[in-house]
Amino acid sequence: MTDEVVVWLVRDTLRLSDNPALVVACEQAKKRGAALLPLVCLEPRRWAAQQFGLPRIGPHWARFRVESVRNLKTELEARAGTLCLVAGAPDCVISDINLKHRVGLVVTDLPLSTEERSENEKLKSKGFSVIEVVCDELYTAEQLPFEPNELPASFSKFRKMVEKKPALLPRVPLSIPELPAMARYEQPLPAQWLDLQDIKLPEACEVETVGGASHAQAHWGNYLEAEALSHYKETRNALQGALNSSHLSAWLAHGCLSPRQVWADSLQYEAQVGANASTYWLRFELLWREYFRWYARATDWTLFRRSGPENRPILGDQQATRFANWREGQTGCDIVDAAMRELSATGWISNRARQLVASHLIYEFNLDWRLGAAWFEAQLVDYDVGSNWGNWAYIAGVGADPRGGRIFNLEDQAARYDSEGAYRAKWLAI
Ligand code: FAD
Repeated sequence: MTDEVVVWLVRDTLRLSDNPALVVACEQAKKRGAALLPLVCLEPRRWAAQQFGLPRIGPHWARFRVESVRNLKTELEARAGTLCLVAGAPDCVISDINLKHRVGLVVTDLPLSTEERSENEKLKSKGFSVIEVVCDELYTAEQLPFEPNELPASFSKFRKMVEKKPALLPRVPLSIPELPAMARYEQPLPAQWLDLQDIKLPEACEVETVGGASHAQAHWGNYLEAEALSHYKETRNALQGALNSSHLSAWLAHGCLSPRQVWADSLQYEAQVGANASTYWLRFELLWREYFRWYARATDWTLFRRSGPENRPILGDQQATRFANWREGQTGCDIVDAAMRELSATGWISNRARQLVASHLIYEFNLDWRLGAAWFEAQLVDYDVGSNWGNWAYIAGVGADPRGGRIFNLEDQAARYDSEGAYRAKWLAI
């Protein structure tokens, strides 16, 4: 064994199973006779930063991330491994590690958006070899039937291309590789991390959304066991109800669960329990997630500008009082207020509620859509750059919607999805 290390730079893939970056890192370490150094840099770019005067990280995401990282550490330690937690930009931390061990290689996820890309560029410019691996997508770039930067302009076109016969199938999930010897790198934990030690799951959460791969497996197992998947298509638009949608989003966003695993399990479920439109529909929704991940890569920084990737001129101001009323659930539109209060209390709202509050901010309050996206980024437990900014741009009509935006009639929607008013009564009472 040399004193060389292979750094496995963990970003948003907080699991051991079906983790292609971990597999590559282990193979490389063995090939080189090097030790493996699993490293989590505590998101310095997000922990410290603000946008539109809002923090980038809110309490729900932070709690979930802390739980997920701890869970990964426990899983590695159970296999005689370790996980180094450090606050700092990856290029600075890895340069520091390089003073102690010789960093032969860094293996990490293929960047999703501008910040991850620039972090990797900095590493490369400092002379480190970096292998970027597609980790949290259904398909690799090579599998896609188009060049990643020539992504179809709409989800429907994308879906038709990957579902064309023979359909493009995600590969079988990978098992956990045999771990090589590990190197250590100790640093005192930063204060913000210690402050987060005792954050509790909010009581108002309908689903016990605790971070970590083991909790993800337990939740997904229970969902399948309850056979809720057989009714998914009819129920997923409901505003509440623990089994009405899968509630997998936070575990998928933090990489505690692999989308390929969900895909494979849904096929197995179909073989055992029976296939119907609902069992297919979960895979359909995973394709939306997939589309927005490749979309974030293809659109780069344009995803964050007011005119969006489509560069369409769009009105909308940043008036502080209207924005504060929207955030606090004080708009006077009861379905929107209920949803915004649920969002603050729990970090999660249903897909339908997300669409309604986004439509309200953009089309009733005439605010800059990016304020809404930034607030969601700070609030959502399942924040994911592609799904969040992609969906907001879509509803605002500056993204991947060929119809040029989505305006919802909020009264009709409330009557349809909350006919008895139970959802509004629950959340307006807090
Ligand atoms: P299910 O209905 O059970 O769907 C299963 C999985 O499919 C989800 O967990 C998610 O990974 C994926 N999915 C479903 N719908 C979408 C969609 N429209 N776009 C992308 N992926 C989808 N989802 C996030 O994970 N992170 C976000 O930051 C996020 N921001 C959003 C912002 C807006 C304005 C809107 C309209 C939607 C956003 N979504 C986001 C998508 C979607 O609302 C959530 O994924 C979903 O509500 C989570 O609940 P679930 O896991 O029960 O979903």
